[in-house]
Amino acid sequence: MFADLHLHTYFSDGTYSPEELAAQAQRHSLGAVALTDHDTVEGCVPTASACAAAGIEFIPGTELTAEQGGHEIHILGYCMDRENPRLLAEIGKFQIVRQNRIREMVARLNQLNVPLQAETVFALANCRAPGRPHVARALVKAGLCGSLDEAFERFLKKNRPAWVPKFKMSADHAIALLHQAGAVAIMAHPGLNRCDEVIPTMVDAGLDGIECFHTKHSTVTVERYLEIADRFRLLVTGGSDCHGSSKGKPVMGTVKLPYQHVEKLKARAAEIKTAIAVTGP
Ligand code: AMP
Ligand code: ZN
Ligand code: FE
Ligand code: FE
Repeated sequence: MFADLHLHTYFSDGTYSPEELAAQAQRHSLGAVALTDHDTVEGCVPTASACAAAGIEFIPGTELTAEQGGHEIHILGYCMDRENPRLLAEIGKFQIVRQNRIREMVARLNQLNVPLQAETVFALANCRAPGRPHVARALVKAGLCGSLDEAFERFLKKNRPAWVPKFKMSADHAIALLHQAGAVAIMAHPGLNRCDEVIPTMVDAGLDGIECFHTKHSTVTVERYLEIADRFRLLVTGGSDCHGSSKGKPVMGTVKLPYQHVEKLKARAAEIKTAIAVTGP
């Protein structure tokens, strides 16, 4: 049995509905999936139902944007208490920051004589955690860019004229926030961030594992992170990071994580929950 532990829906910057996600997971014969929308957990309830109807195990998750040593790092949280007040309060702040950032990116586009409106982006995004892919899609839909790639290349990539940096919490804080919500904290796609030097610090902060398998990790990269996970006694996870068609082709099915890693992840989540029940969050 195989799993995909890194998936997005239209509750953040993916295009799949919960039902489409479950149908695609079924098509790829996945036995278990996790939803990891950016800075939100609201897709978990409908996706859990869609997966239950499709006979697929569902693991609730989220992907937080964090920073360590000047590098942007994404921290995946799994098996959290979806109603944890601190987690909901903090991601709520992030959602407002994301909405303000959209307004700022649109203002920059307008200064460049690109006539896009923030409301157009919000209507298209129709979610609490809008991001650059929504701006890119709105630009393409309005005929202002020929493709999503063009939108990123001309305007939205880091240091391009409409790029606005995103507020990030520290990785230590993200890990602690997830732990107090009963969640396991995993470093997402380290091969994309290229800052392995921060791993020991994050391990000291309680990092539980690394996403060794990812669509954009080459075989050599996978081997490298399996070795690092082994050295630091970290959990191993993996997922496709499929966003449906919002970043080109859907990539679900390109990463198939052996189920034994899901069992270890769930065992760690149970340990974390026991620890917070004993000591309080
Ligand atoms: P944000 O969270 O708003 O900064 O947006 C980040 C999202 O944009 C991530 O899902 C990235 O994969 C996506 N993204 C970043 N750069 C590009 C690019 N050059 N082309 C397409 N998508 C990108
Ligand atoms: Zn995304
Ligand atoms: Fe990410
Ligand atoms: Fe992701």
